[in-house]
Amino acid sequence: MNFDLDQIEDIKKNGIDTETAREILDLDEVHYFEKIMPLAKQLRHEAFGNEVSFCTITNAKSGACIEDCGFCAQSANYKQAPSPVYPLMSTEKILEKAKEAESIGGTEFSIVTSGRGMNKQRELDTIVDAITQIRQQTDLETCASLGLMQREDLQKLKDAGMIHYHHNIETARSYFPNVVTSHSWEEEVETVKLAKEMGFEVCCGGIMGMGENKDQRIEFIFQLKEIDPDSIPLNFLNPRPGTPMAHLHDLTPLDCLKLISVIRLAMPEKELFICGGKEVNLQHYQDKIYDAGASGAMIGNYLTTQGRSPQQELALAEKLGFKPVGPHRKVRSKEDKSKEDKFKVSYA
Ligand code: SF4
Repeated sequence: MNFDLDQIEDIKKNGIDTETAREILDLDEVHYFEKIMPLAKQLRHEAFGNEVSFCTITNAKSGACIEDCGFCAQSANYKQAPSPVYPLMSTEKILEKAKEAESIGGTEFSIVTSGRGMNKQRELDTIVDAITQIRQQTDLETCASLGLMQREDLQKLKDAGMIHYHHNIETARSYFPNVVTSHSWEEEVETVKLAKEMGFEVCCGGIMGMGENKDQRIEFIFQLKEIDPDSIPLNFLNPRPGTPMAHLHDLTPLDCLKLISVIRLAMPEKELFICGGKEVNLQHYQDKIYDAGASGAMIGNYLTTQGRSPQQELALAEKLGFKPVGPHRKVRSKEDKSKEDKFKVSYA
């Protein structure tokens, strides 16, 4: 591999191809740190300067889900998987969680619910109220992750002023049936596509380390590139006891850094958040995520696992000279906001 910083203009314009991505994933530690990390760091810097974003989530409704996502302790199919089960929080409780998130340094707040999608109007009304109140009472950017969605339900969230919609495609299309059988990869993409068409800033990513091979990791990254979300949340599997993936420990800390860099080099200008599983998978390399190309991280707790303390994340960002800002600043600064034209998914 003959990468050097002189190639940065070409990579900035086009991103790397799948062949180069594969070469990076096969690199040893010395060559990765010498050749790839500096390039990823430079691209990150060109796109985001000294800014980082921190998103936070609240698990507003937990467990008792009829879907069978193999990584998820909230599925009712995995009775041995310990996970809290509770109905949707009240508007007041969600608002309280949002204020807590803002007080620990979050710049974006996402309301997450378990389940295939929103099938109770009463629950959607609670979330719409919560979005309205959060916008009135905090400076947080609002987001929700409510599963597969219909246009009319998304419209209600949009009318309440919600900016982002989060929905993951989880993994490569070819590997998806090994992870989920109760719904399809195409259904996931349809929700992402709909949210994009409706003008939400869309956050779409998935989970690495679920038993997929390197080719499938690359397939997933380049399928994300086609989908063209505004930001990418990257999770690394933190295997949950009692789930079908409880035995998987597929990623080394170096694998995680290389995956972050491949995404940065494939999509030089995208927001890239490192989310669930970063503590257990990145271990001693956790502080290197920004050098590897990340533009932000999730802080606070994840859905069913605990993250590093927000104070530690903020202290690290400060030590590295970063300034926390709201996500999607690049997207918002563009004059042309007609993102519908950019959506050219060829998965059909
Ligand atoms: S990921 Fe979501 S849809 Fe899948 S089992 Fe968990 S809660 Fe249900």
